[in-house]
Amino acid sequence: MALRTLESLGELSGKKVIVRCDLNVPLDGGTITDDGRIRASLGTLRELTAAGARVIVISHLGRPGGEEKPEFSLAPVATRLGELLDAPVAFAADTVGHDAERAVDALEDGQVVVLENLRFHGRETSKDASEREEFATRLARFGDAVVEDGFGAAHRKHASVWELPKLLPSAAGRLVQAELEVLERLTTGEPQRPYTVVLGGSKVSDKLGVIDALLPRVDRLLIGGGMLFTFLKAQGHAIGKSLLDQDGLDAARGYLRQAEERGVDLVLPTDVVVADRFGADAAHQVAPIDAIEATPAGADGIGLDIGPDTAARFADLVRGSATVFWNGPMGVFELEPFAAGTRAVAQALTEVDGLSVVGGGDSAAAVRQLGFSDDRFGHISTGGGASLEFLEGKALPGLEALGWEQA
Ligand code: ADP
Ligand code: MG
Repeated sequence: MALRTLESLGELSGKKVIVRCDLNVPLDGGTITDDGRIRASLGTLRELTAAGARVIVISHLGRPGGEEKPEFSLAPVATRLGELLDAPVAFAADTVGHDAERAVDALEDGQVVVLENLRFHGRETSKDASEREEFATRLARFGDAVVEDGFGAAHRKHASVWELPKLLPSAAGRLVQAELEVLERLTTGEPQRPYTVVLGGSKVSDKLGVIDALLPRVDRLLIGGGMLFTFLKAQGHAIGKSLLDQDGLDAARGYLRQAEERGVDLVLPTDVVVADRFGADAAHQVAPIDAIEATPAGADGIGLDIGPDTAARFADLVRGSATVFWNGPMGVFELEPFAAGTRAVAQALTEVDGLSVVGGGDSAAAVRQLGFSDDRFGHISTGGGASLEFLEGKALPGLEALGWEQA
């Protein structure tokens, strides 16, 4: 069955519509440092308010662990949402309590309220299905219908993602719909070739599964970021104190072998930037991959970016592709001396004549922090883990709950 979309909900004027968004934005104190996920939610919210719906936005923020921690309040997000919608947005100081009840009752057609962080309640993420069901039931009484638009949470079997859409008429929002369309082009659809996947970042173990799933589909796989060192180590290189996924070594060896057998170009760096410690003012220099421990830092050296030769080669390969999926920064882009590799790959992505997709929370933050505007990419996915799991071929509960089935 196909994904149910907003059309399936019929006339929404005057109806109370709960919208599960992913407004999990990075915060520095009370300041939102990247509002990409709020912006990505606007399309659906505008469509619903224009249709005269009474919109009840729910979301998680961070990992408060089932406790009411003020630093994880959605209040600043509600404020920002109001600015972006250019309309008043109410905020309820609890999620399923009296304040939420009052705020929902006060809604008029076309108005919006944001309820407090779902994860202030342990039942949202509980492993016990009956606890989740109970929480979902409390949420469901606020609405006549549910729209699931939090793609970033679609891989979680949480109350608001899995149980809630079964309790009311439910459909995917426009963001989930758009994300799914793009990801299907990268998987079951026939991608335009050459098809290149660029992987980096620090969550090595999370991403090994993606390599497994994508190796048979892609023409080239470029490996940068923290994960490259596990591959270099697997090839027998000394990597100093660089990031290493000890448990992933065997898998890395397997992928190197598999790539060779399948004729896939698994491209590893030829040079890296080695620092004497982790910090913006660390001494650092470029080293060929067989001389990582030959810098003055010796065996204490830490590889924090791909080197300039590698960056140029990666950029060429990306630019010359018709389909590119990129997940994970090439280096510690947050520190300027180690941002060049990520900048080069991001720049090349903006020059792709075809489909360019950026996936991953930090990767999306990186392109914005480095000054690239969103519209220079084909698509910036709001779901890191969710998009990776989809590419791995795993079923996402948040999509299944909306009628979607894998082809
Ligand atoms: P995403 O959120 O895009 O999926 P990850 O969460 O896997 O990406 O990784 C992002 C982080 O990886 C960034 O904070 C970046 O600093 C870090 N990173 C990139 N390269 C390295 C490296 N060589 N060593 C350590 N950390 C790295
Ligand atoms: Mg991340």
